Amino acid sequence: MALRFLILAFAILAMASSVAHASDPSQLQDFCVAINDSKAAVFVNGKICKNPMEVNADDFLFQGLNKPGNLSNPLGSAVTAVNVNNLEGLNTLGISLARIDFAPYGLNPPHTHPRATEVLTVLEGTLYVGFVLSNPAPGMKNKLFTKTLYPGDVFVFPEGLIHFQFNIGHSNAIAFAGLSSQNPGVITIANAVFGSDPPINPDVLTKAFQVENKVIEYLQSQFWYNNNNN
Ligand code: MN
Repeated sequence: MALRFLILAFAILAMASSVAHASDPSQLQDFCVAINDSKAAVFVNGKICKNPMEVNADDFLFQGLNKPGNLSNPLGSAVTAVNVNNLEGLNTLGISLARIDFAPYGLNPPHTHPRATEVLTVLEGTLYVGFVLSNPAPGMKNKLFTKTLYPGDVFVFPEGLIHFQFNIGHSNAIAFAGLSSQNPGVITIANAVFGSDPPINPDVLTKAFQVENKVIEYLQSQFWYNNNNN
């Protein structure tokens, strides 16, 4: 009986720790403003803390998110990210955001954030958005959830799942997204699969996508635009 209880206790502990490690680690101090100084000795989540005595309000300020991104690109979209790489005060805080601009019929193509859930709100325009669930039981298909969003609507894209946002309106669209990591990361599916450097062996992709070799050659010869700034 005691052994059974012990095993149960370990199982619960293991579950709790896996939950705790599902996002950025929790805070050990008020802040840890990132600094680009290799002489400092303490790394937290890949960044070094600035001496707290030298920290000031500017370390917590980013300006310019009122400006739209450049939409003159093949996707007609632009993601302007504010994360620990351009707002040092976000270091260790487990949060960041992005402004996403869309030209008419602009697309933020299928992508994932390996380290963050995304919560998106539409300020202007009409967005057709969706995400696909991870692999289902054998014989089942990956389930797709979609919604058409209007100004004021909020939609959540769970961590790690493939998602997209498509402007189906005749005018520009603007959305803001909060992300549950200081450094969410982006994997744009087409870019990663067909535009890697060096390219993935075409035999791998031919087999994976069950198409003729020339289809893969065509896709790998394309320029895969990256709509993420920072
Ligand atoms: Mn996203």
